[in-house]
Amino acid sequence: ACPSRTAAPQMNGTSQPPQQQPQHTPAKKTPRDFIFGKVIGEGSFSTVYIAKDIHNRKELAIKVCDKRHILREHKEEYIKREKDVLNIVSNSGAPFFVKLFATFQDATRLYFVLTYAKHGELLPHINRVGSFDMACSRFYAAEILVALEHLKRLNIVHRDLKPENILLDENMHILITDFGSSKIMTNENDTNDEDDRSRARKNSFVGTAQYVSPELLTAKTASTSSDLWALGCIIYQMVSGLPPFRSGSEFLIFKQIMNLNYEFPDGFCPIAKDLIEKLLVLEPYQRLGATDEVGYPSIRQHNFFQGIDFETLQNQTPPLIY
Ligand code: ATP
Repeated sequence: ACPSRTAAPQMNGTSQPPQQQPQHTPAKKTPRDFIFGKVIGEGSFSTVYIAKDIHNRKELAIKVCDKRHILREHKEEYIKREKDVLNIVSNSGAPFFVKLFATFQDATRLYFVLTYAKHGELLPHINRVGSFDMACSRFYAAEILVALEHLKRLNIVHRDLKPENILLDENMHILITDFGSSKIMTNENDTNDEDDRSRARKNSFVGTAQYVSPELLTAKTASTSSDLWALGCIIYQMVSGLPPFRSGSEFLIFKQIMNLNYEFPDGFCPIAKDLIEKLLVLEPYQRLGATDEVGYPSIRQHNFFQGIDFETLQNQTPPLIY
């Protein structure tokens, strides 16, 4: 929960004097270009509002971050990373990601204008039904996989993929968000840079305990394969209702991860089990798909995805969650 909600920006009400802008350069947006509605979510230093663009009536989500709070918590790098990666992903035209339409600021706040994910996070949908049936698990796993293929092409590791960071749009297709912990790789084989080494010394990690890969815990290397580990955890959770590694404390969860200590409940679909066992592999380069050159054809070809047409996912009607 957010300790101090970022104060609601002024509602738009009056029309603005026209600004002189060079031709073909879209005017920098301001809070007055939007009608702010209700709060739809809160982060540790941000508040997200539903909003409407006054020019085209489009519904959007606007994340408002309090500058003082960011400085106090030393989160400047986190926010910058989020903006940079959202820009890369948005400009790539890849589907299945929240898009960043504009950013602006005033004296005290930063604003991110984003795609509005009408159906919220994937997590409460899993929790509401207990677990997904195979059609749902397969469909959403396929959309996540395609999203990860795009990130791989863009040399981005998300590093905090989890059902809270997978949002759902008005048609129930996924929109991955929250790139604050992500990493842009400069060298595709090795991302063990000073940032990672410093984190190893401090014994801290990026991501969320239940979904963090063993290599992010030891900070040896971070590669796109770290997101494949998270994919394994998420498929396990969709099929069974709970993540594979869970315990009362982060320390115990980390121990379980490092020892690959998890179990499948009775009746767990054997085909899903086989795929998960090939993704939850301690050595990052031995995970299914880790050595695929382009995309993840070896994961696509796994029996779990039988019957999925990966090319048309975005135009398909997702199976009902019930
Ligand atoms: P933290 O910053 O603490 O890691 P967070 O990343 O969840 O938390 P925000 O990005 O500010 O923080 O999001 C707060 C909440 O708002 C999220 O939990 C999510 O449910 C909701 N939310 C964020 N972005 C959108 C969006 N584009 N559409 C709909 N809801 C959103």
